[in-house]
Amino acid sequence: METVERIIRCPRCGKMAVWQDNPSRPFCSDKCRQIDLGRWASEDYAIAGKPAPLAEDESSEF
Ligand SMILES: [Zn+2]
Repeated sequence: METVERIIRCPRCGKMAVWQDNPSRPFCSDKCRQIDLGRWASEDYAIAGKPAPLAEDESSEF
């Protein structure tokens, strides 16, 4: 049986990278990992992932 190298796709830049022995997984490199972590720290993600408010104001009086 052959050992199949597990290839993952970097969610940051879309490059293919090996999963095994990759300290930056699921990213291709530490650079992409840092960028993504930075984005999480900033408000970019918070705004993008802001949950839509429930349509409470559309509740009917009836
Ligand atoms: Zn990458």
